[in-house]
Amino acid sequence: MSAKILYGKDFAAQIKESARTEVDKLKNQFNVTPGLAVIIVGENPASQVYVRNKHKTCEELGIKSEVVALPETTTKEELLAKIDALNADKTIHGILVQLPLPEAVKAHSDEILNRIDPLKDVDGFHPMNVGKLVTGTPALVPCTPAGCIEMLDLAGIEIDGKRAVIIGRSNIVGKPMLHLLMARHATVTVCHSHTKNLPEITREAEILVAAMGKPKFVTADMIRPGAVVVDVGINRIAPKKLVGDVDFDAAVEVASAITPVPGGVGLLTVAMLMKNVVTAAKLQLGV
Ligand code: NDP
Repeated sequence: MSAKILYGKDFAAQIKESARTEVDKLKNQFNVTPGLAVIIVGENPASQVYVRNKHKTCEELGIKSEVVALPETTTKEELLAKIDALNADKTIHGILVQLPLPEAVKAHSDEILNRIDPLKDVDGFHPMNVGKLVTGTPALVPCTPAGCIEMLDLAGIEIDGKRAVIIGRSNIVGKPMLHLLMARHATVTVCHSHTKNLPEITREAEILVAAMGKPKFVTADMIRPGAVVVDVGINRIAPKKLVGDVDFDAAVEVASAITPVPGGVGLLTVAMLMKNVVTAAKLQLGV
């Protein structure tokens, strides 16, 4: 058996197209242009690529984009003051602080992220938005796990009643993924570095989500024949070589559907960010 390959490009294009339609509606009906501000501190090259990509996608969809580039020496107080100003700015509907922050302010990451107005928290990291997700009234949801669900829906893959296993319990991927899958009536197990007999558990999964950050860790014998495999991992194993958490070449022979790395889930994250900016604008307008 050779699995269906779920290319992120096709799904991302559909998500962006629907965001563009919503942007046009907000402009035509309410005379509002959704706006995103991305704060980047320091010169991390990977972060600069991500921020450029977000800016370019905003421009493509007619979303106002403001990149706030601050020097490495920026203090916590200066960052908080910038967030306060953006919280008060009526032309900005979404605020995102590009992570990781430089060493000098890294220890204050939570305080900095929590300063963002929950209605403008397009990364979905604010405790208020986390709480809403957990209690089943999601508002703004972290982009990567939300993108995985959107992709499964667009691919016509049923979630209801399925046995799902997630490897990874981070606040950014694993935990929100648990709540999103559970809200869609999957029966979910979350595994982590203390989990015993991991392959035994992953072999039960009809939907297997790998989000651990360990190159090619998930081997074919860990996958139930016919499972849907969502590989969130992005691991650089050589200057120009990215691989996922799943041994793709072997897994493709066992799974019924699988996302590649690169070219899979990674492409959905920015598309979902655009969707979140539109959602944030609507929440602020009360429409
Ligand atoms: P974290 O490092 O925050 O979390 C990794 C998780 O994997 C932890 O819960 C850890 O367990 C678990 N883990 C590590 N080793 C093992 C193991 N041997 N067995 C079982 N569980 C293990 O990573 P993130 O969640 O932030 O990211 C995960 C991956 O997804 C990374 O490769 C990252 O680059 C990628 N990613 C991709 C995105 C995108 O596509 N746009 C966005 C975000 C992330 P424990 O909690 O016990 O330490």
